[in-house]
Amino acid sequence: MPKIQIFGGGIAGLTAALLLEKQQQDYQLFERQSHWGGKLQTTLRDGFALDHGFQVIQSAYPALSVFHRQGYLDDSRAFGAGAWLLVNGKKTLLADPLREFPRGLAALGHPSIKLTDMWQVIQLRNALLNQTPQSLFSMEKTTTMDYLQQRGFSSAFIEAFFRPFFTGIFLEETLDTPSAMFRFVFWALAKGKACLLPGGIQTLPNRIVADLNPTRLHLSAQQTAVDTNNTVSPHRSTQVHYFSVDTDLGLGKFIALNAEKHGEINLLAVPSAVQVGYAPKNKHLLCVSMKPGSSNSLKPAMDSKAVHHAVEQLLGVNIDAQWIDSIQVNEALPTDAPYVYQTEKLDFSQNETVDGVSFNAFGGLANPSLNAAILSGEQFVAAVNSRQTTPI
Ligand SMILES: Cc1cc2nc3c(=O)[nH]c(=O)nc-3n(C[C@H](O)[C@H](O)[C@H](O)COP(=O)(O)OP(=O)(O)OC[C@H]3O[C@@H](n4cnc5c(N)ncnc54)[C@H](O)[C@@H]3O)c2cc1C
Repeated sequence: MPKIQIFGGGIAGLTAALLLEKQQQDYQLFERQSHWGGKLQTTLRDGFALDHGFQVIQSAYPALSVFHRQGYLDDSRAFGAGAWLLVNGKKTLLADPLREFPRGLAALGHPSIKLTDMWQVIQLRNALLNQTPQSLFSMEKTTTMDYLQQRGFSSAFIEAFFRPFFTGIFLEETLDTPSAMFRFVFWALAKGKACLLPGGIQTLPNRIVADLNPTRLHLSAQQTAVDTNNTVSPHRSTQVHYFSVDTDLGLGKFIALNAEKHGEINLLAVPSAVQVGYAPKNKHLLCVSMKPGSSNSLKPAMDSKAVHHAVEQLLGVNIDAQWIDSIQVNEALPTDAPYVYQTEKLDFSQNETVDGVSFNAFGGLANPSLNAAILSGEQFVAAVNSRQTTPI
């Protein structure tokens, strides 16, 4: 059998390793850094779990089924289906009226939300839920902003909800991201839930690693056959600040969006209100995610006092909060993905040697999502399996 090598211990490489392990195939997994998980990283500090960037697991992603089968997601817990809109120190809950009835109707009292916008949300929800995830990528090829305008959403609603909400997902404010990605994320939110695992986002890769044969795993070991400096694509960055607080600040399980045009903060969340293990007993973790800059022209980090003050302004109350840490993620999301659901066929011609086949599981995703990363790992294993009838 050909020797199988996987380079990259993010979720793509780990998925490939898990599938090969289950098939009892021989493989070796090499990760350049000294920890597993790639973009799924959590720092544990004084009982708090600090994710490197605000990140959730969309339960409806079809590719997650491999992890559902393993039971890795059984104890995931969901954010509420909606968000607080923060304006002038006041908060209004914009919740999915079908899932959060009657709370979801409260948003109609908000000056930026018209009945027609709520109706459009329901229409969009129904239209997308009737599609397969694959077909969401082959519909209109517009930017997200053009798509929202074409769907008839008012600019007040786009500014109050869609812009801050999808800025937090795309890590860009203009909503230039292809509408295919918007449809896929909106579809996933409508179909499933935005979830957290106990103890942070890195729990997922940690659970995979625990099921792999340790003799096949190599940290601080990189693929040198390719010039990684030339293969690293431009990325969007993100910055989060973490505070210890005594209460959930009234936000509960809903994220809170800065629905004002100004200010450096994009969103607030209290992950410990959703999932245990994000904060020690009797404490809560406040996550403050900032508006994005690009990795080349980062806005200067606000110091923790200024962030604390900005949070108080947004919430309209003084809060007792102790700063824990601030985390900058420079290579958060690649900017140059093709935005397709899945690569047609993995091209291994670059990766074959006389005695084996390798998978460069870093970058080059069909779209910047966990779904695409998992699919790429699965595609590699499928390709390996189909080759084993005709060894290289
Ligand atoms: C802040 C943030 C928020 C996000 N939010 C979401 C979200 O809500 N939903 C969603 O679906 N996705 C989200 N994503 C994207 C998602 O996390 C990524 O798409 C996914 O984790 C990518 O996995 P990967 O394995 O393809 O790549 P990576 O996680 O980048 O892993 C690649 C690994 O390869 C290693 N490597 C690189 N070069 C070499 C080499 N030469 N040899 C050996 N190893 C090498 C790297 O060190 C890295 O560990 C978010 C990402 C971030 C950072």
